Amino acid sequence: MAERYWRGDIETMPREKMKALQSERLVKQVRHVWNNVPYYRALMEKKGVTPDDIHGTEDLHLLPFLCKDDLREAYPYGMLAVPLSDCVRIQSTSGTTGKRVVAFYTQDDIDLWEDCCARAIVAAGGTRDDVCQVCYGYGLFTGGAGLHGGSHKVGCLTLPMSSGNTERQIQFMMDLGATILCCTPSYAAYIGESLREAGYRPEDNKLKAGIFGAEPWTEEMRREIESLLGIKAYDIYGLTETSGPGVAFECFEQHGMHINEDHFYPEIIDPSTGEVLPDGEKGELVFTSLTKQAFPLLRYRTKDICVLSRGECSCGRTLVKMSKPMGRSDDMMIIRGVNVFPSQIETVLLREGYSPNYRITVDRVNHTDTLDIDVECTPEQFSDTVGDLYALEKQLTAAIYNMLGITPKVHLVAPKSITRSEGKAVRVIDKRKKYD
Ligand code: ADP
Ligand code: ZN
Repeated sequence: MAERYWRGDIETMPREKMKALQSERLVKQVRHVWNNVPYYRALMEKKGVTPDDIHGTEDLHLLPFLCKDDLREAYPYGMLAVPLSDCVRIQSTSGTTGKRVVAFYTQDDIDLWEDCCARAIVAAGGTRDDVCQVCYGYGLFTGGAGLHGGSHKVGCLTLPMSSGNTERQIQFMMDLGATILCCTPSYAAYIGESLREAGYRPEDNKLKAGIFGAEPWTEEMRREIESLLGIKAYDIYGLTETSGPGVAFECFEQHGMHINEDHFYPEIIDPSTGEVLPDGEKGELVFTSLTKQAFPLLRYRTKDICVLSRGECSCGRTLVKMSKPMGRSDDMMIIRGVNVFPSQIETVLLREGYSPNYRITVDRVNHTDTLDIDVECTPEQFSDTVGDLYALEKQLTAAIYNMLGITPKVHLVAPKSITRSEGKAVRVIDKRKKYD
């Protein structure tokens, strides 16, 4: 019988006890950072706050924020809080939004990170009897390393596939009877599509669950992947700056991700004023690392936009939940004055029966923003007459207009003409950047 939790004592801890644990850890952590990270100490001094002012999580708001630019400025060693000789690993961000940032880990930091990933795998039904295929990239990217370590901890037979070589992924998946698949949602969709093309039905594989994250994905995308692969698809969230995947994970409710808040303390702030918002309000997620020793970031602004909720969960976990991030604040495009997230467009495409293969191009022509969306049609649609395709484009344009309030130019393109992603998908080309 599968265990329900990896760390039941923590995952179901009464709230008061959790708050006490967090406060105790925070007080220690602030002292650790003050003593060892001159960069952050200077920020605290500038704000007129010292470790003596921090008695518990209720005082957290007194501390200064950190953001990616701070990490770039302090690159590579400026945030290091232990001697380099105590570190056993570095990992690095994917560089999705600019220059890469490196993070350092002691052995204890690695252990707690892998422990968080083990919690995610167990929440997705994983046990020592499972065969866990890890096709997140291995190497500097945290996806492969994190899930790999978690899978070992749980005792799954781990297939360290890394990303790419989809034919081999499928061969190993089928030959070795993989039961859990870990990769980005866009790669899961690609693997599912490739399986179907190779003549497999969803019931031909032994997969029962997938643990997908590292990029935004919609509920519609979840249903698409679940039906392609015949599995339950679980979300997992994390970022290199806090450790990697496993900061938050979904349980069987598939409704928000439980945050491992014994290690990562979350706040939601108004991104423009920095004011802390109450639970239930949408804003930017900020994390304070309560336990990590080598790279302990306090009040790190993730730029991810989501909502926190503390309602009871039927899985029994008391850990606070974060909603699926709808994208980073930097993913948000302002087109003709309207805020647009790629995830809104993805929702419409899948709802209208198209595949999750699309590309968004934004440009500026005669001082007006343009929004072009290339969408793959099915082989059947593609063999239709030009008139039929035109009618489909018109219909899709109207559906997107209903969602966004602006009219895009939709182009139905040939099946397979949009490059598939093996890691984080690049969905948007914003050509306006050259005018800035
Ligand atoms: P980079 O910032 O260069 O992409 P990372 O590889 O550390 O570096 O990626 C972390 C970011 O990936 C997060 O801040 C978030 O924007 C995104 N991300 C990770 N997991 C998820 C998820 N489950 N849903 C949406 N976005 C996610
Ligand atoms: Zn739950």
